[in-house]
Amino acid sequence: HADLAMYQAKERGRGNFQFFEAHLTERARERLFLEGELREALNRGELQVHYQPQYSLADGRLIGAEALLRWRHPDRGMIPPDKFIAIAEDSGLIVPIGEWVLRTACHQARIWAEAGKGFQRMAVNLSGAQIERSDVLAAVGRILAETGLAPQHLELEITETYIMRQAERNIQVMEALRNLGLTLAIDDFGTGQSSLSYLKRLPVDKLKIDRSFVMDIPQDANDSAITRSILALGHSLRLTVLAEGVETAEQLAFLQELACDEAQGYYFSRPLDAANFDGLIFG
Ligand code: C2E
Ligand code: MG
Ligand code: MG
Ligand code: MG
Repeated sequence: HADLAMYQAKERGRGNFQFFEAHLTERARERLFLEGELREALNRGELQVHYQPQYSLADGRLIGAEALLRWRHPDRGMIPPDKFIAIAEDSGLIVPIGEWVLRTACHQARIWAEAGKGFQRMAVNLSGAQIERSDVLAAVGRILAETGLAPQHLELEITETYIMRQAERNIQVMEALRNLGLTLAIDDFGTGQSSLSYLKRLPVDKLKIDRSFVMDIPQDANDSAITRSILALGHSLRLTVLAEGVETAEQLAFLQELACDEAQGYYFSRPLDAANFDGLIFG
């Protein structure tokens, strides 16, 4: 990439070639560094899964969690997923890392589901690259068997953008996954230009309204209208609708008034490590 960009910059003859070279080389070097570190992160025990609680809005009860990957680098400290998931996807490292997250989360979900405190479901993010680069169906089946988690306690989240990129093919994979007995959620819904005709055919159970819409309700009229539309659409398709990124009592009240089913967000809780999530469940 860097070479090509330098070549193009040179060809354009803009005279700022030096700037491009320095800039791109630094970016490329940083990416390469992170990829190398990420390759070792699993073995070195630097990866962790945190859990953000999800609540039913009808009765306010904690009903599940979303598993979120964390990377604690020895020198750099916490590196957020936005900085390394794309690198993991491009390099293929998302396959072993994704399977590790799934195994860790399923193992944990079994303990919480068996505690009899209302914990019903663990949601795990599935990257499109995992679907493309590995036999994800076999991996999920194997991990459910290994951990002994009943499949109805597992939900997989796939982003709307990825699903719609190759909808026909993804419908098949999603049907096969769902036949394992788990549920499927469309993540970051509203950002990926779903066609309504596909949406009707998608084998999914839940829509997750993207945080970018929830952020400015109820003040922003457009975002409020979009949120209202997603809820109407989801409910007319008999899907559960969850709002992500709920931070304020006003947002919550607006969502409750529209009969939104579930929510997660800092208003309720930030993602917690397993020990702190234990505290929520077992009090
Ligand atoms: P996502 O799946 O949409 O996850 C929700 C993100 O919103 C999480 O960020 C969560 O910490 C954050 N969030 C939740 N509530 C609030 C809130 O009230 N306010 C704000 N400002 N943020 C909130 P996080 O953990 O940084 O993850 C970012 C993205 O990285 C995730 O978005 C997901 O796409 C990806 N990701 C995280 N873990 C995994 C993983 O294990 N596998 C894959 N493939 N992707 C992952
Ligand atoms: Mg998610
Ligand atoms: Mg999301
Ligand atoms: Mg999001």
